[in-house]
Amino acid sequence: MFCQISFAQSLQEAITKSNERNLFDLKKISKVLYPGDSTIDVVYYKLNLTITYSPEYLKGIVTVNAKSKISGLSSFFLDLQNALTVDSVLSNSKPLSFSHSNAMLNISLNKNYNIGEIFSVTIFYEGVPGSSGFGSFAFSSHAGSPAIWSLSEPYGASDWWPCKDTPADKADSSDVWITCDNTLTAASNGILQNVIDNGNGTHTFQWKNSYPIAQYLISIAISNYVEYTNYYKYSVSDSMPITNYVYPEYFSSSKSFIDKVPNMIKIYSSYYGQYPFLREKYGQAQFGWGGGMEHQTITSLGDFDEDLEAHELAHQWFGDMVTCKDWQDIWLNEGFATYSEAVYFGATQGQNVYNQMISQDMQTAKSAVGSIYVQDISNINSIFDYARSYAKGAVVLHMLRGIVGDSVFFKILRTYASYPGLTYNVATTSDFESVAEKIYGSSLSYFFNEWIYGENYPSYQMSWSSNSIGNNIYNVQINISQNENTNPQFFTMPIQLKISTSIGDTIITVFNDQRIQQFNVNIKGAPNYIDFDPSNLILKDISIIDSIDLTKPKTFNLEQNYPNPFNPTTKIVYSIPVQTKGYIPVKLIVYDIMGKEVAVLVNSVQSAGTYQITFPQKKESGKLSSGVYIYILTAGNYIESKKMVLIK
Ligand SMILES: [Zn+2]
Repeated sequence: MFCQISFAQSLQEAITKSNERNLFDLKKISKVLYPGDSTIDVVYYKLNLTITYSPEYLKGIVTVNAKSKISGLSSFFLDLQNALTVDSVLSNSKPLSFSHSNAMLNISLNKNYNIGEIFSVTIFYEGVPGSSGFGSFAFSSHAGSPAIWSLSEPYGASDWWPCKDTPADKADSSDVWITCDNTLTAASNGILQNVIDNGNGTHTFQWKNSYPIAQYLISIAISNYVEYTNYYKYSVSDSMPITNYVYPEYFSSSKSFIDKVPNMIKIYSSYYGQYPFLREKYGQAQFGWGGGMEHQTITSLGDFDEDLEAHELAHQWFGDMVTCKDWQDIWLNEGFATYSEAVYFGATQGQNVYNQMISQDMQTAKSAVGSIYVQDISNINSIFDYARSYAKGAVVLHMLRGIVGDSVFFKILRTYASYPGLTYNVATTSDFESVAEKIYGSSLSYFFNEWIYGENYPSYQMSWSSNSIGNNIYNVQINISQNENTNPQFFTMPIQLKISTSIGDTIITVFNDQRIQQFNVNIKGAPNYIDFDPSNLILKDISIIDSIDLTKPKTFNLEQNYPNPFNPTTKIVYSIPVQTKGYIPVKLIVYDIMGKEVAVLVNSVQSAGTYQITFPQKKESGKLSSGVYIYILTAGNYIESKKMVLIK
């Protein structure tokens, strides 16, 4: 799913815009406390819906086939909101007793079922569906014509049909039949088997889906659509239809974007494995929400936009074929689809565009609050938090790619998508981690623990110095430290460093697994610059403390900053003499005149050398007011302080 109106803006505003009746309610949803009846395993859903626009009304006949997961199952429940009235429930043409309250439809079976036994119930119900979340069911309009659509994710399927309302239990297949006015076209999942003219001004669309499907990916979209079909040619002689349902007034402006989809499918198939629903179709149906929703084989789109199309299409692999088992793991859907946007644009427009998109995701990801693993799934804003579930989720995949390398990374994604038990089923973060570790051949628990279950991102400082050891070989001491974080306390990551020397560049990778750590390498040529993470493989802030004098000072020294007074920045230079251990803990902290800490410029171990750092660093600039600041250098037993003046 992707909302084009920033989530940071009022979500309510987006929702109000999408439906004039403004029935949406973002209240906390208590239903998550019971995610469906765990005593049953759904096998099949059939939705046979008669939908009228005037009056706005739904009459439904829903058949649920399910297996008992316990011995002696005599009753079970489905989720169905109270706004809908259940008229009767049948099994083998015989009525069953039922009760419907608190959004639960409790059904008593007419015999007991043992583990693995399949039973079938058919529910007759009617009413005006309520609408929750992003607009689970909407009677709306465009250009004076009706537009009726659904968007069930995450908790809205039971607003319009009785189901086990959790993504954890997929049906093996589903049918959706829609009867509507014969001036309208109804789109849904899978293949359109028949359109029956009922001879009374209505017709019935019979859609059949033969792949496993999660309840929230079953959808309807009804309007006076223009139908337009492209083809994805997956072999010399075979092709699959891409069927588009477009509002007539949008068609001419949308066609060029719709025509990009066959190539998108080709690109994703080359990276992730063949399009997952090849026996059926891919489709795009326009709807009234300002964004997109990856309904299985029939994405719903507010508008046809290349980025949005690429995002929703990628969900067919990650979201629809492999579905997050619970909403805590929504990044397995949204992080993957957001990352796929960069994959698609990288493939069509080149590496620079990929890099730009990742930089943008990183910028957004820095504002993420809390862990990617969603802590509060009762709040849909928290599940679909753009900075966290989408942008930071995408950055996590980019960082994983950086660690394991391109070919292993895409092998991990292809294996995850096709892995027995996960493919056409559901997955958790630990399932993805297991696949990643299996393909990579080594543990990645440090990575998933800090980036999925932990919070924030590292703020690094690097300083370095070097000395000649003869034959134009130099020993380089590189000190890397991180500000203390909450969870994890610091980030363990491999870090690439590009050392530029008088005779060329060398890229090394160090494994940074201590908060304050020193690395020593011998390289050929006198080093003059070290670039930290030159390919931008890590979400981070970095302060580089330049080593400006390679001769070893004899004494500690803290110089007066220059310029002083300053605006907007100034440089602070200090010297560390040769140490018996080789290095010494160093802190350089700036305080305001009231003694309040303003910035930690250095908190690291350092070797002998003269260092220079800029104050303020990007993060603090703009926040500081005019006045006197004090900077204090602590290095072992040495303490020195100086004053500086900021004039704005
Ligand atoms: Zn999405």
